Parts: sequence; structure tokens; C-alpha cells
Amino acid sequence: MMQSSDTLTTTDVVVVGGGIVGMCTAFELRQRGFSVALVEQRFPAFAASGRNPGIIWVQTQRTGLELQLARAAHEVYAAYQEQLGDTFDYRCLGGLFFYETDEQQQVLQHYVDDRCAAGVNVEFVSRRQAVKHFPLLPSTALGAVYCADDGQLDTQRFVRALSAAATRTGIEIYENTAVLSTIRRGDTVTGVRTVRGDIAASGVVWATGAWANNLGPEGITVPLQTSRMGQVITQPLTKQAKAVVLHGPRGVAQVGALVDLPQYVAEHFAAPSSVVGGAGVADDWAYDDILALNADGALLIGTSIDATGSLNPHISIRATNAMVSTTLERYGDYGHFGVTGLWAGLHSDSLDHLPVVDRVDGAYVNVGHGAGIATGPVTGRLMAQLIAGESSEFSDGLRADRATLATANTTAAPKKPSRQRPSR
Ligand SMILES: Cc1cc2nc3c(=O)[nH]c(=O)nc-3n(C[C@H](O)[C@H](O)[C@H](O)COP(=O)(O)OP(=O)(O)OC[C@H]3O[C@@H](n4cnc5c(N)ncnc54)[C@H](O)[C@@H]3O)c2cc1C
Repeated sequence: MMQSSDTLTTTDVVVVGGGIVGMCTAFELRQRGFSVALVEQRFPAFAASGRNPGIIWVQTQRTGLELQLARAAHEVYAAYQEQLGDTFDYRCLGGLFFYETDEQQQVLQHYVDDRCAAGVNVEFVSRRQAVKHFPLLPSTALGAVYCADDGQLDTQRFVRALSAAATRTGIEIYENTAVLSTIRRGDTVTGVRTVRGDIAASGVVWATGAWANNLGPEGITVPLQTSRMGQVITQPLTKQAKAVVLHGPRGVAQVGALVDLPQYVAEHFAAPSSVVGGAGVADDWAYDDILALNADGALLIGTSIDATGSLNPHISIRATNAMVSTTLERYGDYGHFGVTGLWAGLHSDSLDHLPVVDRVDGAYVNVGHGAGIATGPVTGRLMAQLIAGESSEFSDGLRADRATLATANTTAAPKKPSRQRPSR
């Protein structure tokens, strides 16, 4: 391919987005012999991938592909740990889903039955046993469901370690470089136009997280719902940082395996009262009651969910209040500790809660990760497999034209013409 003066570079595949999904996609493509450029509008892990507690939830995933992807994640992270070294605090110590009332325990009994039927390794544990797993268990917790297969990592460190390894293997990474559009010649994708010039490529992968909703003008319509998820982080509270991850009962918006049960009673698992009700509050408030410790012993508190449909990243006062007031209620003794981080990340999810990994209108998309820490590395590998013409057990279930992805307000069905794959 000829390189013109305003061409930044020429490559086999250009990946747009430097989050966990884009970085894994780029790395896996390079491992398969493709030349790769990755373009990020800010810097690696700038968005959702750098603003989360890094939990690989297995127990909460719906039976089927959601659960299979989360299970597969452990295998992929273990392989990355082999390649990158012990640099991103990956651990699989398990997770606790604690309850604070007898009503919650009764519903969780059905959850345990359902999980066991799905082959998930869960059991009820007493409060005393639960404290051994998580030293800062809230005093309000009566007992918990324990799953040995839940895990955690530091996703900012993971993406940065992968970015450094990617550069070493010859991937060109362009930071502070927003991609404006796909370049096409007739029906053929020939690269992307960025704010710094064009990148010529025979394959383009969009891995733009919540910004995937901006792909409409590209002729790519992937029906996704965006929202803003908030998180608070404290100064280190404990030296016993190697702990399990914790899910509480005050808001279970992301716990598909629980909320889909016929025995689920929403009132028993209501979000903190400070996020529902109040003047001018839209009805798009939700909460996912998560607590985790990072490697330094700092408490990560979450997760407020609001601003449906928006790409405004600024956390609201009400979302902040929900997380802080719940924490003070549970950890009054720690009220004098400092808050070192308060942020929101833009989140997106599909109607069937599964990512979309496919070729759409000549380009490729790897988007719609509601739980991208659990699914991102697996779909990064899958995207590279698709481009390389390799088979994967996950490819059919994550196609863009699957029936479960369609919504009533989707205007255009994704197009899927068959064209040449990028060559190495
Ligand atoms: C508070 C919070 C808690 C969470 N907790 C968990 C959890 O515990 N477990 C879990 O599995 N998931 C969790 N998630 C979800 C998880 O973080 C996301 O699913 C995952 O990070 C998505 O990765 P991504 O690479 O698709 O998107 P992002 O990380 O958002 O990356 C997309 C990148 O694309 C870039 N980009 C967009 N448009 C352009 C453009 N035009 N040009 C160039 N670059 C562009 C953006 O700058 C961004 O860096 C959480 C999310 C949040 C916000």
C-alpha cells in the first residue's frame, strides 16, 4: 500500500480503543503474526478499564454463555500472567455474597440451588467463616454465599503491562489520537482517519466501549445501553489485603443469576434509599453493592449506576452520597479515613448482556461488555481468532445478528457482508 504524506502508518489491522478489550485484541492479533496499530483518544485504561475494582464474578453470571465466558477468563488471565509476570495482582481467592436479613437469605437459598445446578461451586457460610475470608466484613452481614471461583485483578496495571508488552512486540500505540471515521474505498475498508492523519489498514477493529454508540454514522448499529458507574476508594484500611471480593444485598443490578430467578423479590434487595426517591430523580437509578480491597488494603466501594444513555463521565452528587452513606452505616469506625479516589466510568451493555464480537459492514466490532473484566480478555482472543480464520466455541453466540440482541427501537439491523479477511 502506498503511504501518502498525511498517512500516520500502514498496518494489517488497526484497533480503535485502548481499554482492556482493545489492548487484548491488539496483543492477540500480534501473537498471530499481524502487524497492528492501536489508537486511543487519551491513554491506555483511560476509561472504564481503569476505573473499576477488577472483579471476575463467576457466581453471579447467568447460566449459559455469560457463565462460560467468566470461567474462561481465569484461563486467559493465567496465561497472561505467565507472559507478563506477576504484575497485575491477579488472584482467585473467591467471592462472598452476604445477606443482612432473613428474607434475603431465603431468596439466596434459591440462588444457591440454581448455581449448584449450573455447576458453580457455591455454599452458605456463617458470619464467622465469612470474616475469615474478608476481614472487613460489614457488621450488618449475617452470613454469606461463598464461591471459590470468583477472582480479582488490578485492571489498570493489567492494561498498562499489556501495553508495554505490546510495544515490545512491535505494536504501534498512538495515544491522544481520536479516530474520526473509517476510510472506505467502495465496499472495502482501507483504514481509519484520525485527528493526526490516516492509518491505512486492511482490517479495522472498533473496541470503543461505551463510545460504540457513536458508530451509527459508520453504518454500524449495535444496540447498546450506556450508563455511568461510580466508585469510591479509601486510604488503606487493613494490612490483610489478600481477601475475597464481596457482594452485598443493597442493589443487585448486575447480578443476572439472582434477578432472573422466579423467587427473586426486588424489595428485599433494594438499592440504598439515597439513590431512589428525591426531587428530580430520574427512574434510571440503580446500584450494585460491591466491596473489594486492592493490593494496598484500600477499600473499593461501589457501584452507583445512573445517567442512562449519556456519555457524560462526571459522577453526580447523589451517586456519591449513596456510596458514602452506605459505607458510613457499615463502617462508622472508619469514618475518619481519607477518600483517595471518586470516579465514574462509562459503561455499556447489550440487551442480552453479552458482548458483540463480529464483522459488521466490512469492519470488526468488539463491544458491549457489561462485565468486561470477566469477558474482555476472552473476546480479545476471540476477535483475533475470527480475523485469523481460527474457530472458537464462542463465535456463534456473540454474532451481531443474533436474535437476542435486537431491540424494538433498533433502526438498522447490522449488515454482515462476506469480504476478505485482513492479510498478514
Ligand atoms: C465503576 C465500574 C465498576 C466496574 N466493575 C466491574 C467488575 O468488577 N467486573 C467486570 O467484569 N466489569 C466491571 N466493570 C465493567 C468494565 O470495566 C468494562 O466492561 C470494561 O472496562 C470495558 O472495556 P472496554 O475496553 O470495552 O471499554 P473502555 O475501557 O471504555 O475502553 C474503550 C476505549 O476506547 C477509547 N475510544 C473511544 N472512542 C474512541 C475514538 N473515536 N478514538 C480513539 N479512542 C476511542 C476510549 O477512550 C476508551 O479508552 C465496571 C465498570 C465501572 C465503570
